[in-house]
Amino acid sequence: MNLQIYPWQQSQWDRLETAFANNRLPHALLLAGPGGLGLEHFAQCLVARWLCLDSVAHTACGQCRSCQLFIAGNHPDINRVEPEEPGKQIKVDTVRELLHFIQLSSQFDRGKMVIIAPAEAMNRSSANSLLKTLEEPPGGSFFILVSHQPAFLPVTIRSRCQRLDFAPTHSDSALQWLGESLSIDKSKAADILTLSHGRPLLATSLVENDVVSKQSQVLSDLAKLDSSSADMSGTAQRWHDLGANEVFEWLQTFFASMARLKITGLQPLQAESALVRDLQRLANRLDLQALMRGYELAFQNYRAVTGPYNLNHLGLIEEFIVYWQSITGSKGGN
Ligand SMILES: [Zn+2]
Repeated sequence: MNLQIYPWQQSQWDRLETAFANNRLPHALLLAGPGGLGLEHFAQCLVARWLCLDSVAHTACGQCRSCQLFIAGNHPDINRVEPEEPGKQIKVDTVRELLHFIQLSSQFDRGKMVIIAPAEAMNRSSANSLLKTLEEPPGGSFFILVSHQPAFLPVTIRSRCQRLDFAPTHSDSALQWLGESLSIDKSKAADILTLSHGRPLLATSLVENDVVSKQSQVLSDLAKLDSSSADMSGTAQRWHDLGANEVFEWLQTFFASMARLKITGLQPLQAESALVRDLQRLANRLDLQALMRGYELAFQNYRAVTGPYNLNHLGLIEEFIVYWQSITGSKGGN
């Protein structure tokens, strides 16, 4: 396992390094931010660093006995709490086992480390049973809660943690990392980072699953529909084949991005992206109201196709295309 943080996490890391050096680490930390930014990895790096026996290094050395146990996944002073299955709750029994673990003495004399991820998966009784320990963790133990939806955590949990926020990034260091990870140039990396809303790890999974080329196809279709010779029914069928829920999700992204471009203009780093320039070209021809309405329609139709009702997906796609043609003034056949 790699014990290095991602480059876009440096400022958060430096803050904790300073606290660590001054012996002022909080005993409970809440890492909050959207998925795709590597928050859990950050938590793992922190735990490894705090347990590392090499006191000189500013990151875990990867060589000492503690690091080796960590890498092997066998460190006796670490407990990682997660749902039994992804998307399920963290049950109260799991938290009770954790509280037992915390009472045992630490084998490396560095305290016990607990990672709870995703913390919002704790149900009410799990969260309640953790409160007292979180308030006064025994014997120098540390809690790291990871949450992509911190608003869903009880206030009583949040108030007992020091919160560290992670925001989506379009930084140069993220672009460079993405370029190197995927062996692509900076302009392509900027495109993909835009499509993933500034979440580099999501960006890599989009590429691995060939989502990016499909998104580009939909955007290029949008641009083509903006002409009188557009093939409306062919486009609708193609989007239907790509999957109506994915297409409406991407359309939300496109319209939100266009509205943002309209309001803030092109940011310097985004100018690298050919995709952003395409979006801007489209946005320039429309007013903000039409873009917001487009976003709402994409959102409504997304809810409709992902909801419990068996609606006609092709019909919803055609409805969207008709709206698009009406605002771009290129109704089919004109
Ligand atoms: Zn070490």
